Amino acid sequence: MKQSVKMIVGNWKMNGLTADLGEARALTESLSDAPASCRVALCPAATLVAQMAWALKGQGVEIGGQDCHAEPKGAFTGSISAAMLVDAGARLVILGHSERRQGLGETDSLVAAKFETAVAAGLEPIVCVGETLTQRETGQAVPLVTAQVLGSLPDAAASHAFAVAYEPVWAIGTGLTPTVAQIAEVHEAIRSALVQRLGPAGTRVPILYGGSVTPANAGEILQVAEVGGALVGGASLKAASFLAIVRAAEPARVAADAQG
Ligand code: PEP
Repeated sequence: MKQSVKMIVGNWKMNGLTADLGEARALTESLSDAPASCRVALCPAATLVAQMAWALKGQGVEIGGQDCHAEPKGAFTGSISAAMLVDAGARLVILGHSERRQGLGETDSLVAAKFETAVAAGLEPIVCVGETLTQRETGQAVPLVTAQVLGSLPDAAASHAFAVAYEPVWAIGTGLTPTVAQIAEVHEAIRSALVQRLGPAGTRVPILYGGSVTPANAGEILQVAEVGGALVGGASLKAASFLAIVRAAEPARVAADAQG
C-alpha cells in the first residue's frame, strides 16, 4: 500500500547540546515559510526533549524520544518512562533501534512490552527492525525481519497508531544503502507480516526506511512501493540536509520523481 502522506523522522541519537537547538529552530523557520506537506518529527536525546518541544511548539514538527522503559514507573535508575516523555512534550518514541537491540540486548518481547507501555501513556511508537550484513548475505533478511515484526508487536497493536522502520543494521551510519529492489522486497514482506499480525489495520501502518538516507538518495528511496517515509540519523543533525529530505517526501515531489 502506498502512503499518501510520508513521515520523516530525525534520530539525533547521542548527539546534541542546548546550542544545537539552533538547527531545530532553523528547520522550523524554513517550514514556516513553506509548510511541509508530510509529517516531520525530531527525536533528540532525552535531555533535549523538553527544551526542543518548548522551542518548536506549534510549528509543525513533532517531538519523539529514542527509547522508554517497559515499566510505567519504578526503581530503574537512569531510565526514562513513557509518561516522562509525554510530560516533556514528546508524541512519538523510537523502540527497538538496532543500537539498543545489539548494544543492550533488547529482544522482540522487550520491545513489545515497551510498545504497550508507550501507547498506554499516549505515545506513538516507531518500531525498528533490520538484519545484519551476515544475515543478509546468508539469505535471512526477509525471514529475520518478518520474525522481528511479528515478535515486537503486542496483540493490542491493531488499536494503536504506530509505525515500523526497516533499518538494515549494515546501512546505519555507513553510507551504504540496499538497492531499491531490496528495499521493496523487505517492505512488502513487512506489510504482509503486519496484515498477518493485525488484520486490515496492518494495511495502514506506515513503514519507514532508515539507514544512510541523505538528500541525494531520499527521492529515489521515498518513491519505492510501501516506503511510507524515512528514519534519518546523521542527516537529521543539520537543518539544511534534513529539510532537503523533508522536501523530497512531499507528495508533489514524490509523484514527479515517480514519473521520471
Ligand atoms: C538511524 O540511526 O536510525 C539511522 C538511520 O542512522 P543514519 O541515517 O545515520 O544511517
